[in-house]
Amino acid sequence: MNFDTSCLHAGYKPAGGEPRNIPIIQSTTFRYETSEDMGKLFDLEASGYFYTRLQNPTSDAVAARLCALEGGTAAMLLSSGQAANFFAIFNIASAGDHVVSSTSIYGGTYNLFSVTMKRMGIEFTFVDPDCSEEELAAAIRPNTKAVFGETIANPALTVLDLEKFAKVAHAHGVPFIVDNTFATPYLCRPFQWGADIVTHSTTKYLDGHAAAVGGAIVDSGNFDWDKYSDKFPGLTTPDDSYHGVTYTKKFGLGGAYITKATAQLMRDFGSTPAPMNSWLLGMGMETLPLRMDKHCSNALQVAEFLQNHPQVAWVRYAGLPGDKYYELGKKYLPKGCCGVVSFGVKGGRKAAEAFMAKLQLCSIATHVADAKTCVLHPASATHRQMNDQELIAAGVGPDLIRLSVGIEDPADLIADVKQALED
Ligand SMILES: *Cc1c(COP(=O)(O)O)cnc(C)c1O
Repeated sequence: MNFDTSCLHAGYKPAGGEPRNIPIIQSTTFRYETSEDMGKLFDLEASGYFYTRLQNPTSDAVAARLCALEGGTAAMLLSSGQAANFFAIFNIASAGDHVVSSTSIYGGTYNLFSVTMKRMGIEFTFVDPDCSEEELAAAIRPNTKAVFGETIANPALTVLDLEKFAKVAHAHGVPFIVDNTFATPYLCRPFQWGADIVTHSTTKYLDGHAAAVGGAIVDSGNFDWDKYSDKFPGLTTPDDSYHGVTYTKKFGLGGAYITKATAQLMRDFGSTPAPMNSWLLGMGMETLPLRMDKHCSNALQVAEFLQNHPQVAWVRYAGLPGDKYYELGKKYLPKGCCGVVSFGVKGGRKAAEAFMAKLQLCSIATHVADAKTCVLHPASATHRQMNDQELIAAGVGPDLIRLSVGIEDPADLIADVKQALED
C-alpha cells in the first residue's frame, strides 16, 4: 500500500461482519480458558492480551498503522511524548551511561534529559544541531549509548542533518534516535536517512485535533544490537526479570527493542495510553496527508506575508527561500516544512504583547500542531520567569511569536494577523 492508503487501512483489517472502524476495546483485562494458557503469555511463549497496562488491541492496531507509515518493524504507543522519549533512551541506557543530544530540542525533553535522567545517573552531552561531523564525534564516549535529535525542532524550527548524525552515530556503534513529531512520517521518514528509532508526541499533528495527549516509539529493525553486544547487554543477554528471555534471540533485530520496552518498561512504569485515546489517534491519522499538505501551504503563505510586512523584524520558516535551513528543508522535507512559523515584531516584548492581544481568530494556547491556528508568546507565557537577556541566551527572544498555522482558509488567517499588526 502507498502512504495515503496506509493512513486509512494499515494496522486493522476487519473480517466479514466485523466493525469497519478500529474497535475501542475498553477493557483492562482479557479472559482465558485455563491457567496454563495464561502462563504461556507471561512467559512470552504465546502472544496475546492479558492486561491493558502491557498491551491493548486498540492501541496495538494504531501502533501498527504508525509503524507502517514510518516504515518500521515494530512500534508501541505510550501515554505521552514525554514517556516515549524517556522509554526510548532508558530502554538502552542506565546509570553510568551517556547520551549525546542536539541542544535544539523541545524544552520538556531538555529538562527530562538534563535534570531528571541525570538524577538517574545518565549523563547527557548537548551539541549544536549545526555542528560538524568532527564536533559530533568528539562528544561520543566509550559509554555513549545513543545519539538524539529532532527532525524539525520545537520551538527553534532548526532542520537536523539526519544523514550526518546517523553516519557519526553508526561509526561509533550506537543508534540514532529521532523525535519526528513536527515532520510526521508524511513529510519525512527518518529511517530512509539512517535513523534507527523514531519517537513521536502524537499529541501534535498525528492526532491533529488537540484531542488526546499521547506518544509513540517505532523501531526500524536496522540497528545490530548483537554486533555491539557489550554495549547493549539488556537486549543481547538473558533478562532475569522476564524468565531469562534474550530479546534479540527470541524476537530478532526487528522485534527485540520494542518487546523489551513493552515487557520491562511498560510493565514497571505503566505509561499506557487509554484505548479511547489510541482510537482518537488512529482516526486522526486517517487524514494526515490532507492536513499536512494544507498546514504546509498555509504556513508558507503566512510566512511570506509576514516576511513582506514592515512591522515584522524577522521570520523563521525552513520553507522560505533564504532561511538558514532552506537547503536542509529541501532535502529532508520536500513536501513542506510543517505548519509552525516563528517571527518577531518590531518593538520587542511590548509590541509582541500588543499584537497577541489583538488577534481574533488565532487562539492563544501552549499547544502547537493543531488543525486550529494557535499562537504563543513564550516571553509572556512558558518563559515568563526569564528577563530579556536570559531569553536571548535561550534562543527565545522577547519579541518571538510562535504561530502554529492551522488548516483554516489562509485568507482569514492573514487578515487576522494583518489587523493585529496594523490596527
Ligand atoms: C510536545 C512535544 C513533546 C512532548 O510530548 P507530550 O505529548 O506533550 O508529552 C516531545 N517532543 C516534541 C518535539 C514535542 O513537540
